[in-house]
Amino acid sequence: MFKDFIINASILVASFFLIGQIFKGHPLTRQSPMKWKAFAGLCFGLLGVLLMTFSLRLEAGVIVDLRHIPLVIAAVQGGPVTSLITGLLIVAGRISLFGITYASVSSSVMILVISILFGALPARRGLTMLRFLSLNVLGLLFVSIVIALNLHKAGSDDKLASVLVNHWLFSSFIGALSVYVFLYIVRSHASIGKLKESEERYRRLIASSPDATFVIMGDGTVSFVNDKGVRLLHAISPKDIVNRPYTDFIHPSCLEKLRTHWDALLSHKLKPELIEPIFVCLDGTEVDTELSSSPTFYKDEQAILINVRDVTERKRTEKKLQEALDKLQKLSDLDGLTGIPNRRRLNEYLSLAWGEAAAKGSRLTLFLFDVDYFKRYNDRYGHLKGDEVLRAIASSAHELILDHGHFVARYGGEEFAAILKDVSPDEAHQAAEQFRARIERLALAHERSKIADHITVSIGVASVIPDPDGLADELLSCADKALYRAKEEGRNRVVVYTPESAGSS
Ligand code: GH3
Ligand code: MG
Ligand code: MG
Repeated sequence: MFKDFIINASILVASFFLIGQIFKGHPLTRQSPMKWKAFAGLCFGLLGVLLMTFSLRLEAGVIVDLRHIPLVIAAVQGGPVTSLITGLLIVAGRISLFGITYASVSSSVMILVISILFGALPARRGLTMLRFLSLNVLGLLFVSIVIALNLHKAGSDDKLASVLVNHWLFSSFIGALSVYVFLYIVRSHASIGKLKESEERYRRLIASSPDATFVIMGDGTVSFVNDKGVRLLHAISPKDIVNRPYTDFIHPSCLEKLRTHWDALLSHKLKPELIEPIFVCLDGTEVDTELSSSPTFYKDEQAILINVRDVTERKRTEKKLQEALDKLQKLSDLDGLTGIPNRRRLNEYLSLAWGEAAAKGSRLTLFLFDVDYFKRYNDRYGHLKGDEVLRAIASSAHELILDHGHFVARYGGEEFAAILKDVSPDEAHQAAEQFRARIERLALAHERSKIADHITVSIGVASVIPDPDGLADELLSCADKALYRAKEEGRNRVVVYTPESAGSS
């Protein structure tokens, strides 16, 4: 008896393995198409018949086996259609193998009752161990009744107790084992299916990504590239790129940075961030890119997934914009009439130079110069001529002061300012005198000037070692005072103002 049950158990487990394989692409559920349910019924039915051929024969025509187990599974998984077909096949097998006897008929009725009853059970989510075990108990009850009837009929009541004990024990144990195998196969197929599905979805996502996408393996070879990546590198097909080292496509100047970035990323020392390497296409063209990387697994290996965006156009636009901004900045710093820095720029420069000189403890000098009797010039020669004079003075200042590394600006109207760093009061005086003489030498006729027949300028010079707590405006006001004195003392002259001394010439 033990041997027969073991044979039954082996057939059951092996068959469930086989059925699991057959149904791996189309798992059997209550929602499966009718033909699959019918086919499953056929499989489970044939399994029932097979189990019967290896059944334990108790008396003539009285057999015991595990055929109710495939019936239970057929009913739970496939529902009424599968269960009924399984039941009918088992009945047909029983009658044809053992003929129409009391035992055959009673067990056939029992099988049909089980198949109808279990098949009609409300649709649930499918087979679980608990559901199987409870239905197996119910099935065993039916089976036990029939065995009892058949043994009684054959006059072998004495065997009943031992047959039932063994049958219950084996049926529960073997049933649980075979269901475990069945569920294991079904679930592993389902998870492989899901894995494949999610891999496929992942590939589709990458393929349809708006960015060029590459997968770089641990050894540095490119293992995957999408269509956008093929286009980015001016290749014809992925074959031109795949299996080549990524270093073939990156500008040598960016390799070190990229390597460090990826090392940090793989050791989780870095949050994903954008970097901007230059890619080198197959035809040698260089492409400015923006690249984001993330660690991934590809073909079961640690890899890096990179998304690359061509930013050449953006960089070009940024460059143009920067150039335009620089130009605008320059324009906003320059005086429209003379083209030299304006007062805004002077203030900026003065405050920087003041801070610098204060920090270094060095001397800072400021000239303020003003055209003498310029109103009268305009009145005599006209405003346009006046403008020409201002341009000529600016140009001389440019040559004499700016070109010597100093700074000159139009302060406003017919007044100009110059800033000189690291010159002594004497040197400053000399430079101012030189400039004044230079303007005289221009010999720009000025009939209405009260002090000469040509254009002249008065210059106020202030020179200090800035106090870090003081303000640059102090220097301006000192130079202004010196200029005022130069005007007062007769114009066309230089007056130097220092906190220590005030001199004139
Ligand atoms: P002073 O010797 O005391 O400096 O006498 P001034 O006439 O030069 O000084 P005032 O401040 O009385 O007149 C300055 C003149 O400068 C008045 C204005 O017409 C002229 N001016 C200011 N800006 C411009 C400019 O951009 N172009 C021209 N052509 N003239 C200007
Ligand atoms: Mg003036
Ligand atoms: Mg003037």
